[in-house]
Amino acid sequence: MNTIVTGGAGFIGSHMVDMLLARGDEVIVLDNLSSGRMEFLKDHIQDKNFRFIKIDLLDLEKLMRAVKGADMVFHLAANPDVRLGAENTRIHLEQNIIATYHLLEAMRVNKLRGIAFTSTSTVYGEAELIPTPEEYGPLVPISLYGASKLACEALITSYCHTFDMKSWIFRFANIVGQRSTHGIIVDFINKLRTDPGTLTILGNGRQRKSYLHVSDCVDAMLFSVKNSDEMANIFNVGSNDTIDATEIGKIVVEEMGLRKVGFSYTGGERGWKGDVPRMLLSIAKLQKLGWNPVHNSENSVRETARSLLKDG
Ligand code: NAD
Repeated sequence: MNTIVTGGAGFIGSHMVDMLLARGDEVIVLDNLSSGRMEFLKDHIQDKNFRFIKIDLLDLEKLMRAVKGADMVFHLAANPDVRLGAENTRIHLEQNIIATYHLLEAMRVNKLRGIAFTSTSTVYGEAELIPTPEEYGPLVPISLYGASKLACEALITSYCHTFDMKSWIFRFANIVGQRSTHGIIVDFINKLRTDPGTLTILGNGRQRKSYLHVSDCVDAMLFSVKNSDEMANIFNVGSNDTIDATEIGKIVVEEMGLRKVGFSYTGGERGWKGDVPRMLLSIAKLQKLGWNPVHNSENSVRETARSLLKDG
């Protein structure tokens, strides 16, 4: 199997590359290294089944050539920073929507048939039903990031219907683990390294969300692609429970071996404009298919803090 991973030098993408090579795929990574790091792929550089192409998905001409001959695309390249949309209104339009449109065009022209896409819980906006199932609606995102991912989902399913492709769309909870480069745990570690006496938490600290370890996340994606076959296969991917920001702060403090850390809060029920303060996805659909997470939210967070601290 000849598999492309866009964003394969990123946090989740590099774990996907590890798993695909381990199962014997030939893997081509397409990445512009904007947030990805070659160091995450260093174990594979000599592997004859591995190729890296430095490419920006906004370069359609180059992309047309790069995807030729592939059987399947795991499309993870994106700007994943939810907060950024409040300052820069163009970034998610370009890096998520236009980049995905280019990829779909390159797939259409080269007759590629399968795409797995990493979407997000933020497409649900402030869902009234929690745990939120895949069929929940109407979908009312409250961040430009969530809006861009929902637009990508719509483009993907429409291309699939119109040009006989198949898609797997994964709406992720918060994914954490080794090689995380952004998000609450990385943020807390950085803050506590700068000032080991105080931890400033955005919002009131009671934002309660579901976290999932990256090993479970990648496993869920591969399992679903193998075991579902509709034109558009949409799955929530998360753990079965939640943890709040203050609890995460306490875990990070414990794992750093710190004492007497004072917690302060910026206030308000959300961390930033566009933050969804409560998120738990129903994973019943994936469970019915036969997949279950190994980690809950707490041990996903704890293992992540431990591995990030170990890696320096
Ligand atoms: P990441 O930033 O580590 O990975 C994104 C990768 O895409 C990076 O390697 C980056 O260099 C690459 N990239 C970005 N723009 C590109 C472009 N124009 N052309 C080529 N490459 C480009 O982020 P991540 O956390 O690993 O996220 C992976 C995917 O999962 C993203 O689509 C993200 O939106 C989605 N997602 C992540 C989470 C999470 O909690 N981490 C939650 C929901 C969805």
